[in-house]
Amino acid sequence: MTYRSDPVECQEILARLEELVSYESPSRDKIALDRLGARLAAMLGSAGGLVEVVPNSQGGDHLIARFPFPGSDAIRPALVLGHFDTVWPHGTLARLPFRLEDDGRAYGPGIYDMKAGLAIFLHCMENARIHPPPRPVWALLTSDEEIGSPTSRSLIEELARQCAFALVLEPPLADGGLKTARKGVGRFRLDVAGKAAHAGVAPQEGRSAIVELAHQILRIQDFQDPGAGTTTNVGVIQGGTTTNVVPASASADIDVRVATAAEALRIESALRAILPATEGTRVTVSGGFNRPPMERSPAIASLFEQARRIAEKLGLPLTEGSTGGGSDGNFTAALGLPTLDGLGARGAGAHADNEHIVVESLGERARLLAALLNELKVES
Ligand SMILES: [Zn+2]
Repeated sequence: MTYRSDPVECQEILARLEELVSYESPSRDKIALDRLGARLAAMLGSAGGLVEVVPNSQGGDHLIARFPFPGSDAIRPALVLGHFDTVWPHGTLARLPFRLEDDGRAYGPGIYDMKAGLAIFLHCMENARIHPPPRPVWALLTSDEEIGSPTSRSLIEELARQCAFALVLEPPLADGGLKTARKGVGRFRLDVAGKAAHAGVAPQEGRSAIVELAHQILRIQDFQDPGAGTTTNVGVIQGGTTTNVVPASASADIDVRVATAAEALRIESALRAILPATEGTRVTVSGGFNRPPMERSPAIASLFEQARRIAEKLGLPLTEGSTGGGSDGNFTAALGLPTLDGLGARGAGAHADNEHIVVESLGERARLLAALLNELKVES
């Protein structure tokens, strides 16, 4: 049996999705986020959720929707995670409006990451009143995932501690596969202090912060261990004032990705232990890991195996894989909560101008999510 999406169902979800895309929602714009948040709260409410708006003075308010299915209060809830902020600044819709192409793809800023996931979830909960899941469903929709979840992390962790498993509505792998491992993400900064001097009159009195930075950049490159999944990327450098001055300051911003907690510890210690390579300069390292790695634990592996069988019964082959990108699933998995990520629509182009989803995947993913909420079992 091969699953065939119901075109009417796909169009219903697409109409909802078009509306969500029409609200621009950059991560740092509270007014815009709260406007979309209010709309989402209304949608969650009419789908049967008890909605709690969690005020956030430093960004958009977050939303919790609890779906208390009859007779299901005694067992721990399923946690569904989504975010409604996007990486796109205001005005993007004027340049890249929502559009549906003849090839069955729908384009728009934030459509794939992850407004499609939200539309799929809403559709799924509207239908859940007919076939309610055996456990409560708690959805947490946050407003700051794209900037590392600074204001929602504690909320995610607080809910995760009370739930049985987590399903994350982020985009899937290219073939629709789920993400069962994600790298941890660290952001570090290296500041170098040297000594300014006239480059022609008294160069010997100066200590070049840029030369020191150059040494350090190559060292940081050497901290990588591709075999272990560890990469470092010096992505931004700054330094100096003008050509005839020995530069007194320079800095580098560094992105670090790790697949395991052990590697996170190794690389953080190595960065903190950096000493100057040239005399008379000082180096300071700041920053840290803002997402722990999501490691494919035995509990995640067995939850995926259940998911694969559930999907197979629907006629949907389901694969799994890993990605270098982080999500809020990193937080729940690091707490030991079995987590499956990548339940959004199929598509491509996250954070890029060609961002799009495959319309016929909308119905299929809604069916998959509903089946997982109905059938996944975890002990206790
Ligand atoms: Zn996302």
